[in-house]
Amino acid sequence: MDTILKVSHLCKQYSGFALTDVSFELPKGSIMGLIGENGAGKTTTIKAIIGAVRRDSGEISLLGGDNTGGSALKQDLGVVLDDSFFYFMLNPIEIGRILRAAYRNWDDALYRSYLGRFHLPEKKKVKEFSSGMRMKLAIAAALAHHPRLLLLDEPTSGLDPVVRGEILDVFLDFIQDEEHGILLSSHITGDLEKIADYITFLHEGRVVLSEQKDALLERYGVARCAEGEW
Ligand code: ATP
Repeated sequence: MDTILKVSHLCKQYSGFALTDVSFELPKGSIMGLIGENGAGKTTTIKAIIGAVRRDSGEISLLGGDNTGGSALKQDLGVVLDDSFFYFMLNPIEIGRILRAAYRNWDDALYRSYLGRFHLPEKKKVKEFSSGMRMKLAIAAALAHHPRLLLLDEPTSGLDPVVRGEILDVFLDFIQDEEHGILLSSHITGDLEKIADYITFLHEGRVVLSEQKDALLERYGVARCAEGEW
């Protein structure tokens, strides 16, 4: 199995919380849903993977070790954190101009096609956007430099079903490429049921289970899974 992301024995201690021995593996061409209650450690896990939080111990292997870290790695990752937005006084076109300078593979045509697909006005300031529009813009920006691995923290949280559907469809298109992968955290089990291939369930900083979604559904049934009993 070719993996695009492997997390092994990841540990991170804060004063009142510990992420303990978190391990999971994301095969290429698949979507991993990271699920857990508030404070379970989902954001900390994603931040430790991208290096935004310094881990105490553990190994992270990104893109099968096929990278040299630093700025080369940045080119291959698309990241959307829930606190990542950004440039409120600018419009999407102005934001694109700034991001173009940061990414070797920035693709303006692709960026604009996502803006169109998401029905985002190109010349309206972000401060006038709804939270759903901001999230869609962050996703368009994260995809426009042709990343191989997409990491997203609660990308559909608090959004209405139509916007959630638009976002999930974009993820499903992205993952059509067998070299791609997506790790996303969510507490919306219905979204994960729709798109995830694998589920990692965190509870109080520990992995309770990490396995294929279909095996989980078979074991627990759709109804119980949808109620979050997994
Ligand atoms: P949520 O769904 O609420 O975002 P989460 O599963 O993403 O939750 P984390 O944000 O990773 O959880 O937080 C896990 C725990 O770590 C929480 O108890 C949080 O208060 C704590 N924590 C996170 N960041 C820090 C920090 N910088 N300093 C101290 N404690 C922190």
